[in-house]
Amino acid sequence: MPAVLILVINCGSSSVKLALFQQNDPTPVATGVIDRIGSEFIEGCYRVGEGPRQKLECPPNGDHAAALDAALNAFRAEPALKDLTVTAVGHRVVHGGQYFSAPVLVDDDVIAKIRSLAPLAPVHAIPNALGIESAIRLFPGVPQVVVFDTAFHQSITPEVYRYAIPDDLYQGHQIRRYGFHGTSHAYVAEEAARSLGLDFENCRLISAHLGNGCSATAVLNGKSVDTSMGLTPLEGLVMGTRSGNVDPNLHNFLAKEAGLSLEEITDLLNRKSGLAGLSGISNDLRVLTEKYLAGNQAAKLAIDVFCFRLAREIAALTIALKGMPEALIFTGGIGENSCLVRGLVLSHLTAFGFELDPARNEAAGSESGGVVTVQDSNGPTAIVIPTNEEFAIARATAGLC
Ligand code: ADP
Repeated sequence: MPAVLILVINCGSSSVKLALFQQNDPTPVATGVIDRIGSEFIEGCYRVGEGPRQKLECPPNGDHAAALDAALNAFRAEPALKDLTVTAVGHRVVHGGQYFSAPVLVDDDVIAKIRSLAPLAPVHAIPNALGIESAIRLFPGVPQVVVFDTAFHQSITPEVYRYAIPDDLYQGHQIRRYGFHGTSHAYVAEEAARSLGLDFENCRLISAHLGNGCSATAVLNGKSVDTSMGLTPLEGLVMGTRSGNVDPNLHNFLAKEAGLSLEEITDLLNRKSGLAGLSGISNDLRVLTEKYLAGNQAAKLAIDVFCFRLAREIAALTIALKGMPEALIFTGGIGENSCLVRGLVLSHLTAFGFELDPARNEAAGSESGGVVTVQDSNGPTAIVIPTNEEFAIARATAGLC
């Protein structure tokens, strides 16, 4: 095993995901995930290459640093990784606010800025900072790089990112649209351009990242020019458990008519809405698809709303492209795997000239992606590109070290 390895760390509020990469190889050498950090039920597993998933021994009530340590010890105990030397660490950070428009090398000022963004990313900012601080202690002297979910969207202009609310709220509290999933959108857009023989710096693309969280982005000449998420990852599309856009007066209505508190409404819109709320069945599209195909009307409604709203957003994003998209990219667990969703979305976009090829749509998937529109169609292309955010972070990290 070569010594040059880049470790990618994604620290959530109670979980840590890790991936180890060799430079320029998109397939990780090893991966690990630890959940329920800080509780006695902490648990984790890891995998070396294509090998079996193995249990990770984690200390009960361990913190993020203990979880990272446990994973690294497990990696090092593997014969294939015993001489493991991490030469750089890349961190996924959810919010870079208006400070960061590109990956940066970590220093005290970067960590302080990430911490200061806690009001904009209450669930993620502090765990993200803790992850960086833990990695600095575990890998003294090794360069650490931060890659922000918001950074790719820092190219959007004020007419796109400002809300029509009093100016002092923007000046005093940085209330504006930021957008998220930027690492994924940038990665799949570049991959799609390459795969379709387009010049990334001179083409019009729309990417739809559809996982548990969902967002769509207009990419013009290699830059994000509009995106569906806003101040927080609640704005925009219908998601697994998130409502996406609702009438801004809904808070007031629910407080007065249903007697809900601010916390209850926030919880309802973030955790009990979306596909889960509409269907009353599940947030998992696999479950809903099975029901949909068996004629379940609640599952059908949830999937129909999900697809219509996505198609409407794609149409709206076209404005920022100043022309028809040359390609529409599907990615994320749903975008890569659901031919049902792709087919329904394109059925709403016939005005754009998309011509679905049902056999290609059926064949495209997470393994190798694939074009889903008719070959030599005069309309735009729709294509599945599997995302690989961890590798994108590893590549960005290597680029700065
Ligand atoms: P996350 O945002 O948590 O990374 P993923 O990108 O893994 O989420 O996407 C999760 C979603 O993808 C779930 O709704 C899941 O049902 C859906 N999904 C995964 N595999 C399939 C499949 N084969 N068919 C349909 N949906 C799928």
